[in-house]
Amino acid sequence: MQTATLTRQDKGLALYQAGAVRRASDDGLYIVKSATNAHQEYTVRIGIDARCQCKDAQMRGVVCKHQWAVIEFERAERAEFEQRAGR
Ligand SMILES: [Zn+2]
Repeated sequence: MQTATLTRQDKGLALYQAGAVRRASDDGLYIVKSATNAHQEYTVRIGIDARCQCKDAQMRGVVCKHQWAVIEFERAERAEFEQRAGR
């Protein structure tokens, strides 16, 4: 598989699976570690007020891989919750 064909969503999933996402607050704020620089972290918010500090989000206005990582994080959390609730 060529890495060049990976979408932002694929990269976001990989970030999430690598444990790069952590919750920063209870109101939808997250910290996501950079995939390329271990010293770099991005503050990410998803939802209506979605944003990220990276160039991809700031310059291109897209849902960047960091936001996708948070989306995957929340998806997994929700799945776990529903499993526990017996649904
Ligand atoms: Zn980003």
